[in-house]
Amino acid sequence: MIIHQLRHTLLEGLAVALSGQCCCCGLDSDSPYPLCSHCLPALPTVVAPCSRCGLSRGREEAHDATTLCGACLIRPPPFTLCRGSFAYAVPIDSLVSDFKFHDREDIGAALSACLAQQVKAFYANSPPYPSAVVAVPLHPRRLRQRGFDQAGEIANVVARHAKLPNLSRLIRRARYTKAQTEMPSAKARKANLAGAFTVNPKMGEHRHVALIDDVVTTAATVGEVTLMLNEKGVERVDVWCLARAEAQRRG
Ligand SMILES: [Zn+2]
Ligand SMILES: [Zn+2]
Repeated sequence: MIIHQLRHTLLEGLAVALSGQCCCCGLDSDSPYPLCSHCLPALPTVVAPCSRCGLSRGREEAHDATTLCGACLIRPPPFTLCRGSFAYAVPIDSLVSDFKFHDREDIGAALSACLAQQVKAFYANSPPYPSAVVAVPLHPRRLRQRGFDQAGEIANVVARHAKLPNLSRLIRRARYTKAQTEMPSAKARKANLAGAFTVNPKMGEHRHVALIDDVVTTAATVGEVTLMLNEKGVERVDVWCLARAEAQRRG
């Protein structure tokens, strides 16, 4: 683990030293990361996000008095908020895929640094700060297949920037689950996740934590982890992700 962290720190340092080409436009990047200052602000973000679930409320609803979407007004999710740095759309989908499946840790570091800045800015404006960061855990089998834990990597960056402890080791996958996106219905997603996570009682020492994932689509997984954290005494869970998928409403 220490070796992996060292490798990650070295890679980040190397990325700073040799920024190389921007992964969007292919020109030399003028930032410490492979995303240039021209492409970064052009990346897609969620338009008028719901203050609870983070999905877009659409341009028409953006001027309503409430900041909640219709779904959250009726049945709010267990977490307090869910924010993605970006919308899961072109080219974020392929950037996240390169990070997860093609060893582009430099892209992951760039997107994670954006998320970390967003997290810091959010709590500077809307305290209180959470007292710890935790990642949605990856099952050991999937970790072996993939070679690295993307949510854990993102959580490392956020924890370091926000100067918060990373307590990801206190949450584990108790059993292997299929990808939530393969589940045909909300009921199937719920059944797929039942008993999937175990949380160490030590998490209960924290009242408010930031839960990190790479992409949040249906929010069933982060919802289930939130309930497990709540059971151990964590009162407030804020979900932060690289990208919030708008295509599917949670069912
Ligand atoms: Zn560029
Ligand atoms: Zn909502």
